[in-house]
Amino acid sequence: MATIGFHAGRERKVAMVTGGAGFLGSHVCDRLVAEGARVLCVDNLMTGRRANVAHLRGVAGFMLIEADVAETLPDVEVDEIWNLACPASPPSYQEDPVHTMMTNVLGMKHCLDLARRTGARVFQASTSEVYGDPEVHPQVESYRGQVSSIGPRACYDEGKRAAETLCFDYQRTYGVDVRVARIFNTYGPRMSPRDGRVVSNFIVHALLDEPLELYGDGSQTRSFCFVDDLVEGFFRLMRGPSRVTGPVNLGNPGEFTMQELAQLVVEMTGSHSRLSASPLPMDDPRQRRPDIGLAKSLLGWQPAVALREGLAATIESFREELWLSAPTAERLS
Ligand code: NAD
Ligand code: UDP
Repeated sequence: MATIGFHAGRERKVAMVTGGAGFLGSHVCDRLVAEGARVLCVDNLMTGRRANVAHLRGVAGFMLIEADVAETLPDVEVDEIWNLACPASPPSYQEDPVHTMMTNVLGMKHCLDLARRTGARVFQASTSEVYGDPEVHPQVESYRGQVSSIGPRACYDEGKRAAETLCFDYQRTYGVDVRVARIFNTYGPRMSPRDGRVVSNFIVHALLDEPLELYGDGSQTRSFCFVDDLVEGFFRLMRGPSRVTGPVNLGNPGEFTMQELAQLVVEMTGSHSRLSASPLPMDDPRQRRPDIGLAKSLLGWQPAVALREGLAATIESFREELWLSAPTAERLS
């Protein structure tokens, strides 16, 4: 892509956020704009939504560029590159697995090449999926994981592992300043209601009084982090000393079965939904919980928002979104 007219006023920090119109990326854009940075949000809108950044339109220094990071990146003088571009829910990333792999590998390479040229610092949104279906519990950063390289989740898991490899190869070979966060399941306002992840699925179905589908017997566990806590961790990592490169686990160590989550959502929404059973997807991890000892000691970070509190805010935002998208007659009834 040719150089675009986003000139770095060097008195202000210039940040590129790939995947900036997505759930997490839009919260990162908000915080950067609030800091006074110029923000170039690069997104192909495959799972992201213009609505997530609509409130930033017209804000001086904010720009949304529609582009695919697997193909190219705008050639801009930047201080920071936040790489969040990649569909994150299993149904979305499995829809076009080859493109998911290319987004992870080529998207990462394009970010690192731009950083090498400009001297920018790079943040990589890695994932707990690098641990696969873990035999070590809770997961520590030194654990190398149990990942299938050929299963339906591999395009995402192996793509993210390769992206981490590229980060540290660029650091050792070219001195690029990298920060790698291994993100555990995160939820909150601006998740897409159609995204297919468990929190959004359960809330949407509960609000519509439809059955909540438990995949498998619902005994598998996940640890859910509220978005505000996660983004605080991102900024502590990105703004910390250069020796703190990560990978660092960022997540909430509270661990819940999917059965417990479903019951909690039904209770909190006051829903009449019942729970129904569906087959467990292939390679679905049995358990997941972060060891956040490293984040605590290196970043002084730990999550502050309990699941009940975060779910209340998330349910409210979904209720509003579903209400706004309902036909007028339903809204008035
Ligand atoms: P999301 O799907 O809401 O956001 C991803 C964004 O990337 C979307 O706006 C999408 O349109 C964009 N995108 C995808 N492929 C692209 C491409 N080739 N070029 C340009 N834009 C592209 O998901 P999210 O939850 O906000 O996740 C953001 C990042 O964090 C992802 O990299 C994901 O892997 C990582 N992550 C998220 C979680 C989580 O629980 N939310 C957990 C682990 C890792
Ligand atoms: N899941 C479920 N019902 C749903 C969606 C997901 O029971 O409607 C399960 C899924 O099988 C997994 C867990 O919830 O065990 C978390 O799924 P999600 O897609 O949110 O994230 P990931 O599997 O990537 O951690």
